[in-house]
Amino acid sequence: MEFIPLCVPEVRGNEWAYVKECLDTGWVSYAGSFVSRFEREFAAAVGTEFAVATASGTAALHVALILAGVEPGDEVVTSAITFVAPINAIKYVSAHPVLIDAEPQYAQMDPALLRRFFEEDCVREGGEVRNRRSGRRVRAIMPVHVLGHTVDLDPVVELAEAYGLDVIEDATESLGATYRGRNVGTYGRMSAFSFNGNKLLTTGGGGMICTNDPVLAARGKHLTTQAKVEDVEFVHDEVGFNYRLTNLSAAVGVAQLEQLPAYVDAKLAIARRYAEGLCDLDGLMPMREAPWARSVFWMYTIRLTGTLDSRELLRFLGEEGIQTRPLWQPMHRSPAHADLAGFACPVADVLSAECLSLPCSVGLRPDQQDRVIDAIRRYHSALTP
Ligand SMILES: *Cc1c(COP(=O)(O)O)cnc(C)c1O
Repeated sequence: MEFIPLCVPEVRGNEWAYVKECLDTGWVSYAGSFVSRFEREFAAAVGTEFAVATASGTAALHVALILAGVEPGDEVVTSAITFVAPINAIKYVSAHPVLIDAEPQYAQMDPALLRRFFEEDCVREGGEVRNRRSGRRVRAIMPVHVLGHTVDLDPVVELAEAYGLDVIEDATESLGATYRGRNVGTYGRMSAFSFNGNKLLTTGGGGMICTNDPVLAARGKHLTTQAKVEDVEFVHDEVGFNYRLTNLSAAVGVAQLEQLPAYVDAKLAIARRYAEGLCDLDGLMPMREAPWARSVFWMYTIRLTGTLDSRELLRFLGEEGIQTRPLWQPMHRSPAHADLAGFACPVADVLSAECLSLPCSVGLRPDQQDRVIDAIRRYHSALTP
């Protein structure tokens, strides 16, 4: 029985050739032409003026928060349903996450709840926004586009403008998705991407900060490269980070980026096949797409209700050699972030209990996918009359 993994990288382009070029020329570390080429070509693909390569998506989020001027004790408004990275990044700058629950349809940050937070919990004071419950300054909004779909961005951007806050998009999961016809990652003052192994593009590990602001881009480059100000002498003007991407990794990234349109097509085809194969099953919701979004279906995720149980299906498929994953533990339940336990996020709780992500590698073959669909249908018919 062939094992079907959840989501693994697809390597079928110029990766070997470009990596060989690094190895042959000795440009394997942080200097080398693939880094700036990857930055340039990635910015063009997303539609921003600038891109700064980083060692990971988490590093990109960390530096973006510093660039936005988030200071210790500030609050950053973000999503309750997310992989833990943005919450960790907010903690790295000693700021406090404010969690906004998801809307139930697409599992994204609920813009109505975001509006309620600003209108009911915040006051404006001398050009600043203060959370009247906590007394803290609110400094930025970090919407997280999850699963390849997008947050409903217009209300987010509108609220950010009304309250004078920066938007930093965590677009790590939704490269290739569009909101009202424009790419995610172009709506915020900055956006972050990830090239971890299960993301749409991988460099092994890596990330990117995208922005149209030349000052932010330059300072982002500076901060991620140890804040060195002298070419020859070792002079550094602030506490920087070694958050650089290696030329080897960037070489893989350049090759992967050449495949982006093909990868997106593959994800869309996988989503269509699942929708067709599963749409008639009572109690099982295929992944949805909002009218204002073009999802890239990065992580194909179904929702199970009634007698169907996501963890039971996870075990059932596991015995069939099919790897699936539940949705993340909502951030207000995370033992690492016990300080967030006071946030009520009932929708996140339900989604976390009921959702299951299915195999969706770019290279997933139709016969493998049919095996997944067939197994889900068998589980379903055993449980429903
Ligand atoms: C993958 C991911 C990141 C970044 O992850 P890295 O592994 O650090 O590249 C950040 N936010 C979300 C929502 C993610 O899914």
